Amino acid sequence: MIIREQGSECVENDVTSGAIAKSLKAIFEPSSVAVVGASQREGSVGKAVFKNLLDGEFTGVLYPVNVKAKSVCGVKAYPKLADIDGDVDLVVIIVPAPMSAGVVREAGEKGARGVIVISAGFREVGREGLALEEELTAVCHEYKMSLVGPNCLGVINTDPVYNLNASFARRPPLPGHIGFISQSGALCTAVLDYAARKNIGFSKFISVGNKADIDELALLRYLHNDPQTKVIMMYVEDLRHGFKFIETVREITGGENSTPIIAVKSGRTAAGAAAVSSHTGSLAGSEAIYDAIFHQSGIYRAQAISHLFDYAIAFASQPLPKSNRMAIITNAGGPGIIATDITMNVGLTLAKFSTDTEEALASALPPTANIHNPVDVIGDAGVERYRAAFDAVLRDENVDGVIFILTPQSMTDIYATAQIIPDLARKSGKPVLTSFMGEVDVRQAIDFLEENHMPHYHFPEIAARAMGAMYMHSKWIRRQHLTEIDVKPDCDLARELITEALQKGKTYLGEVEGNQILAAYGFPVLPAKLTTSPAEAAAAVEEFGTAVFKIVSPQVVHKSDLGGVKVGVKDSVEAVAAFNDIVNTIKENAPDADIEGVYVQQMAPKGVEVILGINRYKTFGPLLMFGLGGIFVEIFKDVSFRLAPIRHNAARAMIRSTKAYPMLSGARGSEPCDTDELERCLTLLSNLATDNPEIAELDINPLIVHPEGQGCSVADCRILLDLERVK
Ligand code: ADP
Ligand code: MG
Repeated sequence: MIIREQGSECVENDVTSGAIAKSLKAIFEPSSVAVVGASQREGSVGKAVFKNLLDGEFTGVLYPVNVKAKSVCGVKAYPKLADIDGDVDLVVIIVPAPMSAGVVREAGEKGARGVIVISAGFREVGREGLALEEELTAVCHEYKMSLVGPNCLGVINTDPVYNLNASFARRPPLPGHIGFISQSGALCTAVLDYAARKNIGFSKFISVGNKADIDELALLRYLHNDPQTKVIMMYVEDLRHGFKFIETVREITGGENSTPIIAVKSGRTAAGAAAVSSHTGSLAGSEAIYDAIFHQSGIYRAQAISHLFDYAIAFASQPLPKSNRMAIITNAGGPGIIATDITMNVGLTLAKFSTDTEEALASALPPTANIHNPVDVIGDAGVERYRAAFDAVLRDENVDGVIFILTPQSMTDIYATAQIIPDLARKSGKPVLTSFMGEVDVRQAIDFLEENHMPHYHFPEIAARAMGAMYMHSKWIRRQHLTEIDVKPDCDLARELITEALQKGKTYLGEVEGNQILAAYGFPVLPAKLTTSPAEAAAAVEEFGTAVFKIVSPQVVHKSDLGGVKVGVKDSVEAVAAFNDIVNTIKENAPDADIEGVYVQQMAPKGVEVILGINRYKTFGPLLMFGLGGIFVEIFKDVSFRLAPIRHNAARAMIRSTKAYPMLSGARGSEPCDTDELERCLTLLSNLATDNPEIAELDINPLIVHPEGQGCSVADCRILLDLERVK
């Protein structure tokens, strides 16, 4: 199968990925750093950056570069990069935007391998800025240097081998295992502040700014290979790659060496603004495409910035649960119930304890305690009761993880209880998340837990959600890829049909041409014929049996709305009447429409009507849609999306993720439908979309899904060709 990639930059990136990894070393692991625009002036960015490098105790050599100053913060300064005697690996640039490209060139001449441009005044300020940014990138490419920024806060590497804080962040992060990539510099500072309070450490911290050169994809690859980074947090405003992103990131998040990624996405994109004339087009907004990209990449999408941390702290310090059987320990009924509810909602279940565990619990707890899950150690529980319960459930083979809840009651020994957790948790090899509810009385205990890298949440439901995220990830790692189905579409025929239409200046294809293209790809189209007289129509009915008559006119897009469809035409007598009837009705309802004839299509047997579609985005390529027809799509917008290409298992997931799926699987005694054939149709659609970039939008509405083993029928389609959306 030919998979054509959208956007040439993806291909470029791929070719040079080795080079990118190497030049990112210059950014994160330099032996010498020059700061152009380093300054002594109070409150200047030039001072903040230089001081951060100095105070952070950068392990290599530092060179301030300043045309006027003799020294900066007591370090001998150089007027120009060229004046520095030694080698310079990394150049950090804080000069006005119009001067930046010149400095980048000097950096290239000096032999630097990486530059970080902190200065603003580029793409974000409009056309002139964009031109400056393009110049910057061009010079970097000329000298084969990688560039972070412009318009960014900088880069931090807490690895003690480097101690690199090349940023103007107000406070340095603690070392730790979270890699953070942010498209907003301002958010970076807030994140650092919050993290400091919570004792959360970072391995690498990158403000990507305008992403003129280095973007998320290159950074994700680097962080994945970084031994210090155990989990990646991302704040994303826009992505500029489609399927290439998915393909690369799947490798990072999947498999044995998986690095989990949690992302929060904000901001609207132009992607959603693409002109829409199809059903799929109107339903596929920018949110749908980002959901699809994250989902297919194995990235866990957080709904709020705070959730980034909720999940990241769990991933950074706890092992993944082997399966979904959780134990909850609590000293209060209510929070235990809430945690149980959420636990069940996020795909986890409550473990059923072994007899040994129940016996151990029964002997350690008072008779009023609940020895079943959720374990209630009762309000007056002291440390020993908590310890016995915690130890017993951790030992149980039926338990894959524990949520440890405490409410500060008058008898509770809060701090001492916290102290039993880290050791027992670590020895068990199972994930443990804690929730010491409250604020003042529990503060000291929470600090202890956080200092000892035990994830803590103010509310047990958030702990349950975080555990759910970890379980989802462990499932993702173990997922099996089904092999691609073997279809041999007649790509050439489809191409010919598309090229021919475009040569004729035809961009809207109705059922007549649309079905020919779909047939070439192996879709189950129904026998049909375009007829131009009642006699011809009658002959077609004789041939096909009961048929559906449809008007064929480029101006009539929604045929039945104008009375252009007649179902159940049984014989030649009915055929003559139906033909005349349809033509007359359209003449009346749409007097200006050019009538090309009547499409006589075999009537499909009964089934469930679904909609399949394509909507292409310039940046990301084709987005595929699936939903149940009728009110499910019109009113409930119950649809699912994936970015093409997809394989069989993604098609299956797409179908199953709609709320109306039970309608297909045989709910309430109804007959199960042929979802295997439906899956096949979705993968065919993916192939069609990736092979033919001219297809901007496509609706198959409806595809009729027949009972199991009886296949599907394409009962209507339309295609919009648009070369503009290719790139
Ligand atoms: P429209 O342009 O109004 O969407 P369609 O071709 O989809 O026209 O026809 C309207 C409806 O008629 C379909 O939603 C479907 O329920 C039914 N229909 C159309 N063609 C067939 C067919 N070949 N077999 C069975 N039902 C059909
Ligand atoms: Mg239709």
